[in-house]
Amino acid sequence: MSEQTRFQNVVNGTKCDSTTGRWLASTNPFTGKTWAEVPHCGVEDANAAVEAAHRAFIRGPWSTMSATGRGKLLRRLGDLIARDAEKLAAIETRDNGKLFAEMSGQCRYIPEWFYYFGGLADKIEGGVLPMDKPDLFSYTKREPLGVVVAITPWNSPLLLLTWKLAPALAAGNTIVIKPSEYTSCSTLALMELVNEAGFPEGVINTVTGFGHEIGPALTEHPMVAKIAFTGGDATGAAIYAGAAKGLKHVTLELGGKSPNIIFADANIDDAVKGAISGIFAASGQTCIAGSRLLVQRSVYDEISAKVVNFARAARLGDPMDANTQVGPVTTLPQRDKILNYMAIAREEGARCLLGGGTPQDPALEAGWFVQPTIFGDVSNDMRIAREEVFGPILSIIPFEDEEHAIEIANDTIYGLASGVWTSNIRRAFTMADRIRAGTVWVNTYRAVSFMAPFGGYKMSGIGRESGQYAIDEYLQTKCVWINLAEGVANPFVLR
Ligand code: NDP
Repeated sequence: MSEQTRFQNVVNGTKCDSTTGRWLASTNPFTGKTWAEVPHCGVEDANAAVEAAHRAFIRGPWSTMSATGRGKLLRRLGDLIARDAEKLAAIETRDNGKLFAEMSGQCRYIPEWFYYFGGLADKIEGGVLPMDKPDLFSYTKREPLGVVVAITPWNSPLLLLTWKLAPALAAGNTIVIKPSEYTSCSTLALMELVNEAGFPEGVINTVTGFGHEIGPALTEHPMVAKIAFTGGDATGAAIYAGAAKGLKHVTLELGGKSPNIIFADANIDDAVKGAISGIFAASGQTCIAGSRLLVQRSVYDEISAKVVNFARAARLGDPMDANTQVGPVTTLPQRDKILNYMAIAREEGARCLLGGGTPQDPALEAGWFVQPTIFGDVSNDMRIAREEVFGPILSIIPFEDEEHAIEIANDTIYGLASGVWTSNIRRAFTMADRIRAGTVWVNTYRAVSFMAPFGGYKMSGIGRESGQYAIDEYLQTKCVWINLAEGVANPFVLR
């Protein structure tokens, strides 16, 4: 491997390898070949990154810079990402195998978060309290938390990082980023732009390596104030338990088993496209995957046939090719997990309507592909309908009426997203009220925006990312009391 394919971390504004001297290979899921290396960091590296972020927070100049100055830096970073969006997207596709069309769309959209939160940075206001006690003047301040550890997964590394980075920085925090060991390269490439934008040293630091090796050192470090995590629910729960020891703030975004609900009164062709985009886009490796397709009984056969036909025609191939519609999955363990769920679904009696294994095409042999797969006659108590697979497997579940649809939709430990397809406006509002999930899409699916709060109910997580709510997740409130009276009141009673 040539030196050019090695990426380095940045700690305290300085590029560095790991103190262990070891490297982790990054493999292209389409070719199955290693294409880059990132430092394989240990606990010492994790500690150094946290200490650098803490110094930058305590000493400045970040914490002493005006909020307007911080906002300008965020907007500059947004401009640089816009300039290099295609380059960053190509790195992401090589790292995680998702379509270049998808990753470049994401990378071109990411600057909007930096512009939005850059604009919000100097609109974080406290207030003067209409105090009930004469001679006391009180006001509130909104202050940053301190060092934030951002832990990101492999499915959309830069987008999911941005959802943490932009509001955390706008609020005045400093950051340590731990990207997924499978897809660290785009985060390290982003650090070149952070440097070019002129962020002071120590404000944004990175540490690459295995979660099980350096994760606890980061998330339980006494100098860390908050953990912002996207990933699986088991890891999220472990991080939450660790964070509790130090009473740290958390934002957890943990995936789901989202219902995508088609009523007989829907525009059927649109609903079929919605079902496809809900599960086969990104090879189903998305937390918002509409993996449970709930279909009203009277149109069940028609919709099942149309969804199967649509999915059968999907073109699998090189994710860099603009004509490819379904790429490989990101990791070998993930492919094994998906294939295992196909076996579980069959054992539990689900009827395989499409796919169910790996494609036979020799052109795809080197890549980590699985076939777009559809199971019919799924009942909501089967594991395939209850557990997050994170792959291109759709379960179609019939329902009778509105009440029945709500019962099935909410019968899950998760509550991240949902879709409703109907032409009945009353029904659209009723469903939006009664589905217990952080996002409800009506007659569309898989839409996100920098201004739209995103996050889960139940086991799908804690807190919200994007939108104005997101900045509150990175702030704490201070109340200041000024005594305007002469002398001090009776010291033995509460004033
Ligand atoms: P994880 O939740 O284990 O990984 C997500 C991130 O957490 C990675 O950066 C990982 O690092 C890190 N991590 C792992 N263990 C720890 C720890 N103890 N402390 C701190 N950080 C840690 O996801 P997996 O890659 O194992 O995927 C498993 C399942 O999770 C998937 O099949 C899917 O169901 C779900 N998932 C959900 C996502 C979502 O968007 N909500 C995204 C990705 C996965 P490292 O990679 O080095 O282990």
